[in-house]
Amino acid sequence: MHADQLGNDAFTVQCPVCRATQAARPVCRRCNADLTLFTRVQASSRAARRRLAEAVAAGDHAAQARLRDYLHWLHG
Ligand SMILES: [Zn+2]
Repeated sequence: MHADQLGNDAFTVQCPVCRATQAARPVCRRCNADLTLFTRVQASSRAARRRLAEAVAAGDHAAQARLRDYLHWLHG
């Protein structure tokens, strides 16, 4: 099975307020916007995309449908 790699949460996000690109962090380095929820959504989206790729590789159609629904809900 897949390993939960340490440091996998280290990724960049773009601030939805001022569009500054930065490493995922709780507060925007430029405008001090609270990025906590935004970062969590991004992390959840990345995890769901990773699981979706695994479901496709495994031919798990039920999991693919569930994850696609989740990603659609997440991103509108
Ligand atoms: Zn910002």
